[in-house]
Amino acid sequence: MIDASYADFYRRSVDSPEAFWAEQAQAIDWKKPWNSVLDRSRPPFSAWFSGGLTNLCHNAVDRHLPERAGQAALVYVSTETGQEVSYSYAELHREVQIMAASLQSLGVTQGDRVLIYMPMIPEAVFAMLACVRLGAVHSVVFGGFASVSLAARIDDAQPKVIVSADAGSRAGKVVSYKPLLDEALRLSQHPPEQVIVVDRGLADWARQQPRDVSYADLRTRHARAEVPCVWVDSTHPSYILYTSGTTGKPKGVQRDTGGYAVALQLSMRVIFGGQPGETFFCTSDIGWVVGHSYIVYAPLLSGMTTILYEGTPIRPDAAVFWRIVEQYRVNQMFSAPTAMRVLKRHDPALLQRHDLSSLRAIFLAGEPLDEPTGRWAAESLNKPVIDNYWQTETGWPILATPLGFPDVASRMGSPGVSMPGYKVCLRNETDGEPVAPGEKGVVAIDWPLPPGCLQTIWGDDARFVDTYWSTYPNRQVYSTFDWGRQDADGYLYILGRTDDVINVAGHRLGTREIEESISAHPAVAEVAVVGVQDALKGQAAWAFVVLRPGQDNVTAQASQASIAAHVDAQLGAVARPQRICLVTALPKTRSGKMLRRAIQAICEGRDPGDLTTLEDPLALQQIPDAIARP
Ligand code: AMP
Repeated sequence: MIDASYADFYRRSVDSPEAFWAEQAQAIDWKKPWNSVLDRSRPPFSAWFSGGLTNLCHNAVDRHLPERAGQAALVYVSTETGQEVSYSYAELHREVQIMAASLQSLGVTQGDRVLIYMPMIPEAVFAMLACVRLGAVHSVVFGGFASVSLAARIDDAQPKVIVSADAGSRAGKVVSYKPLLDEALRLSQHPPEQVIVVDRGLADWARQQPRDVSYADLRTRHARAEVPCVWVDSTHPSYILYTSGTTGKPKGVQRDTGGYAVALQLSMRVIFGGQPGETFFCTSDIGWVVGHSYIVYAPLLSGMTTILYEGTPIRPDAAVFWRIVEQYRVNQMFSAPTAMRVLKRHDPALLQRHDLSSLRAIFLAGEPLDEPTGRWAAESLNKPVIDNYWQTETGWPILATPLGFPDVASRMGSPGVSMPGYKVCLRNETDGEPVAPGEKGVVAIDWPLPPGCLQTIWGDDARFVDTYWSTYPNRQVYSTFDWGRQDADGYLYILGRTDDVINVAGHRLGTREIEESISAHPAVAEVAVVGVQDALKGQAAWAFVVLRPGQDNVTAQASQASIAAHVDAQLGAVARPQRICLVTALPKTRSGKMLRRAIQAICEGRDPGDLTTLEDPLALQQIPDAIARP
């Protein structure tokens, strides 16, 4: 517990950020102290602790060795392969050095990018830590993405090396990675010279000499390697993580080193109530920001044990999460509302089968937490359920109910109050003026963003400024692109996106990316993709497609299947629309703008709103018929 009221703690974080964050930074090891806590010289950019030398891997691994060498650092549980392996801090230190030496032997040095396209296996974590150990910049690409998505990320990050694996496994089915990677490398303009392949023995893979190197060989060669940490400036990028926006081109969120370490360390203590020596279980994937921050970095920075889980929430049965909690005496768990909605459909007795006495709370994020699911989880587990709201861009929660401060109680339906350093303000959509309590506004954050948030978009400062900071001219305000409402006590309620980004089972997808993929199908003339409410996944993507002339001898079913297969192959099954509806025209305004919101309203059974600008009423009238067809 922290010896202050949350109101005082928060106030200090925004009124005296330099003093507040300098104090928080004491929790991190610095090789050389910073010159300035916050460099404000180039708004809307902000540089935290510049001049300070540090290293993320040192802080996450090496510095714990004197006290925790024998403590479990990483516990790998795979219900896909039946493996359970625990790595102590000393063992993790060894494995990370082997991986770092392997990368070094392929020429990786400070500032080089390394793309990690891997399933949830320990080597993925070793690779992330090895990169930051060397001052190299990792870019983890979610294993569910297919070759076109992967190629776009390779071309943007231009990695020196890619680390991958033969295959992953999902719900007992082997998912080959290597052929998708080979295809991505074929499509890419900037393929790296070397690929490290971790061979799990799950799938055969074609070795391309001399490009592909087996990790088993490298591991033997570097088994005893000692690789010191490279001290980097606090502002040196630690990683790039791509996320979807409103255009088809993914944005490379760039994170710094020192600010991120300081923010994560604070978040673990203050928000999650995590203490050194405790066990943290985050069910996300390392391909997402939640996985970066709360599977890998925050628990390890805090000297905790982290669990890396490869599997689904319902195999071998829907009690698997709780079995893990009991077996490893998990203290904090972090999951997503979709996982709870999945579990809710199973026998409630499964929740009573295991001893959950070690578990202090369960945190849920990534998508809106609906009240019935929140209540169900709280009542069935008899534990606090803590919603928290943030984005890939911010790296750690913007809103939460901080467990370290018992004076803030959670409120059902709200992800909570502003976290330290975030000057959250709800603003009028057009003029940017703050809205009155209770009124709907855009969730905005006043400059400067706290440590840990994105520095820029990789290689594109202009896009960073244009995308996030230009909604209200003459104001230094970051837009989250979410709608919100705030009550008189400061609790915020999130009311959905202001843009065309959708959220499927906590996965953020840009409707434009899916549209671009479908448009590339040879039979497609035009397409609109919208997010539609879904009882299980929160939202689902529905595509409305106009086929090119000359498709008359192809059945609707065959066209739909072919489009679905095309999206699977290009973007990955994660982006496959749940429904593909064929229409002969799409509703647009007279100036040619697609009326996606009207389509979405009809799909959700709502009034489509103001249609005065609609060009062709017949196009809109087709939508209900298209939905009604099976
Ligand atoms: P991502 O960057 O993929 O984590 O997606 C971030 C977006 O997910 C946010 O901008 C919100 O739209 C949504 N989101 C994340 N957490 C929550 C939450 N607790 N409640 C409501 N929406 C959320």
